[in-house]
Amino acid sequence: MSTRARSYDAQVLRRARVSDHLVRIVLGGPGLADFESTGIPDEWVGLVVPGQFQSRYYTVRSWEAGELTLDVVVHDVGLVTEWVQGDCVGDTVTLTEPKGSFAPPAGAAWVILVGDLTAMPAMARITTAVSVPTHVWAEVPDDLGGYLPAYSTVHWLDAPHDGESRLATDVETIDWPEGDGYFWMAGESAQMRAIRKHLMRERRLPSTAYDVMGYWRGGTTRQPRAVDPGPLWRAGKAAGKSDDEIWADYDDKVRDG
Ligand SMILES: Cc1cc2nc3c(=O)[nH]c(=O)nc-3n(C[C@H](O)[C@H](O)[C@H](O)COP(=O)(O)OP(=O)(O)OC[C@H]3O[C@@H](n4cnc5c(N)ncnc54)[C@H](O)[C@@H]3O)c2cc1C
Repeated sequence: MSTRARSYDAQVLRRARVSDHLVRIVLGGPGLADFESTGIPDEWVGLVVPGQFQSRYYTVRSWEAGELTLDVVVHDVGLVTEWVQGDCVGDTVTLTEPKGSFAPPAGAAWVILVGDLTAMPAMARITTAVSVPTHVWAEVPDDLGGYLPAYSTVHWLDAPHDGESRLATDVETIDWPEGDGYFWMAGESAQMRAIRKHLMRERRLPSTAYDVMGYWRGGTTRQPRAVDPGPLWRAGKAAGKSDDEIWADYDDKVRDG
């Protein structure tokens, strides 16, 4: 059996601005006819834009009636950042097959979600998918009041003006609900490394009780992604590693260049 990941060509059908730093693109076309969602609410795809070979990873905000929606954060510089603000409607892009990571243990009585703007698409999908009380901590620069379902409990954290995320520090002050639950967090990789240590050493959570993912790497210069999470993910799964162990491997590789 081939171990090559599938890919799909799709056309940009529409684009709309969701907020100051968030742009929605809707993809469709015959190339998506065989696309299948994993059903895992934080599932993501690799996106390759025209003229590029490197992919960037985006959460599947929705997959409905043959249309796949991605919400793309616009930051200071960046390959997809620049493309999405140009004349991209009608472009053909390539997507990799979706993968997901959100896996609360059976019996989890609550879910905590923490993330920055890049995590909002996943947090929005997760809050609509889970049936236990969900507490969201969102560090965003934009007014995204209507973006998450009204029934979720949301703590809005200001994104600092200097660009330095404080998510790890903020998480250490959270009042955790009673009983067993599931902690999911995504954002800048250095913050995620810090929080993993906190969860393991201070809160002594088993690795099945949390999922912490570095979605992007801070830095002032444009840095093409040097590490493709796809092969790491497949190798980690084949070796029987947990999601968290795989993401820790990924962070180490990114940090070591
Ligand atoms: C599993 C997964 C799911 C993701 N889902 C989403 C999603 O739904 N929506 C989304 O917008 N992003 C998402 N991301 C993050 C996204 O892949 C990165 O932000 C990506 O680097 C952006 O690509 P770019 O081409 O615009 O910038 P790049 O060319 O990759 O980066 C250019 C420069 O910008 C900096 N940079 C990169 N990302 C950010 C950022 N978010 N904020 C500030 N500076 C940044 C880099 O440090 C670099 O210096 C996800 C990442 C992963 C791993």
